[in-house]
Amino acid sequence: MENNLQNSNTSIEKKIDWKSVQSTMKEKLGQDIFESWLKKIELIEELNNYVLISVSTRFIRDWITSRYLDQILQIIKEYNKNITRIEFVIEDKNNNNSKSFENDLEQNNKNSIKNNVSFIKDSFLQYNRIDPNKNFDNFVTGPSNKLAFEASKKVSQDISHYNPLYLYGGVGMGKTHLLNSIGLSLKEKNKVMFISAERFMYQFVKSIKANEMVKFKEYFRNTDILLIDDIQFMNGKEAMQEEFFHTFNALIEKGSQIIVSADRPPNKLTRIQERIKSRFSGGLVVDIQNPDYELRYKIIKSKIDELELFYSNQINITKEIQEFISKEIRTSIRELVGALNRIVSFSRIYNKVPSLSEVRVILKDLLNLSENKVTIDFIQTIVCKFFKISKNEMLSPRRSRYLVRPRQTAIYLSKMLTSKSLPEIGRSFSNRDHTTVIHSVKTIEKLRKEDNELNINIDSLKNKILYNQENEI
Ligand code: ADP
Ligand code: MG
Repeated sequence: MENNLQNSNTSIEKKIDWKSVQSTMKEKLGQDIFESWLKKIELIEELNNYVLISVSTRFIRDWITSRYLDQILQIIKEYNKNITRIEFVIEDKNNNNSKSFENDLEQNNKNSIKNNVSFIKDSFLQYNRIDPNKNFDNFVTGPSNKLAFEASKKVSQDISHYNPLYLYGGVGMGKTHLLNSIGLSLKEKNKVMFISAERFMYQFVKSIKANEMVKFKEYFRNTDILLIDDIQFMNGKEAMQEEFFHTFNALIEKGSQIIVSADRPPNKLTRIQERIKSRFSGGLVVDIQNPDYELRYKIIKSKIDELELFYSNQINITKEIQEFISKEIRTSIRELVGALNRIVSFSRIYNKVPSLSEVRVILKDLLNLSENKVTIDFIQTIVCKFFKISKNEMLSPRRSRYLVRPRQTAIYLSKMLTSKSLPEIGRSFSNRDHTTVIHSVKTIEKLRKEDNELNINIDSLKNKILYNQENEI
């Protein structure tokens, strides 16, 4: 117990010196960009796996997200390599009285803090993960997310029908959007607690330090609806899992609804107690898969409608461009929406409709995602780590069963995620013949159709590779 606490404490030790981050940003991204977009960003909080920063408007947030987020993250990682993402709060310090749409929304947020959503008192005031803009109405559905959507609606109408509801899927697939929608639709009549697993952990450690565990238990056991996002981050934190397990049971017993999201199915969660996994499996488990073209196109259309309402004028993005983005941006819905926002920002700033070749430039980094970042070596590293074999084993001529499948998987992913030719791929796997490459690709393609577990594993590997998440395995 003591050891665990020790670990948790050290893991939230502050490492980031924001002043130096700022000067590095200025250096790396240039004075102009720094002055126009980045200077006013403030670091609100440094958590275990992510940082929370504040900007003054939604527009700035979207602009920064679409252009500079990767670079900022890299800079922050130099101070704390555990940070894997950045989250924003929107705080308009200078313009409190403005009646803009954005401020109305923020006002809504503040009201909901007061009314129905419970928070640990000493969290900073603005922290509210319920976003009025992410609701059931603007969640677009297709075959890949329909079940998850319907299950979420069902729990919002009929509490504890499925308990817990467990939603899982890759990065940027709409999990948080759905949890948020459930929270939104239930908060009028119920006490809703919407929290990420990281935040739960942070509050847990803090409460222990401050000798406030009684209060902590009360907060969490008093809620009607508990929404916990990204539960995979609870891995390895034994003391906290202990507490979570008891909270979970207490809530289920009194008929509260629990909704959990994760990047993988319960049985694939690592370093999480078996009894917790088994509780998760005991409710309804639903996945969200990669969106197909039709859904991507529908989402683009719906976001354009939303933006037109938001800016109260027409967004001129040609059908050709809409189709182009839907076709090219396949990795996640977050990226798809980010790409659209970028194009909209461009057309507003330069006051013109971009041509297709301009769009290619604006989205260059996203379009080349798989080409620029993904190397066969990186794929091998990730796949080896996942299957717990060494790189030497993967590259050896041995044909033991436990080596063949990982090897075929790595070859398959190299074909899918890089533009390397079959012979080139063969060479990177200890000079194997290109027919071996073809055979591996065909085998995995076939297995993906037959073996659901393998299919899930490959999707999750693909996401890890595309998002460079080596340390999350
Ligand atoms: P996750 O939590 O799975 O990583 P998010 O819920 O944060 O993903 O979704 C990423 C972005 O994509 C958000 O802006 C979200 O509103 C949007 N999004 C995801 N799925 C949909 C959908 N089906 N319809 C509309 N927007 C969506
Ligand atoms: Mg999320």
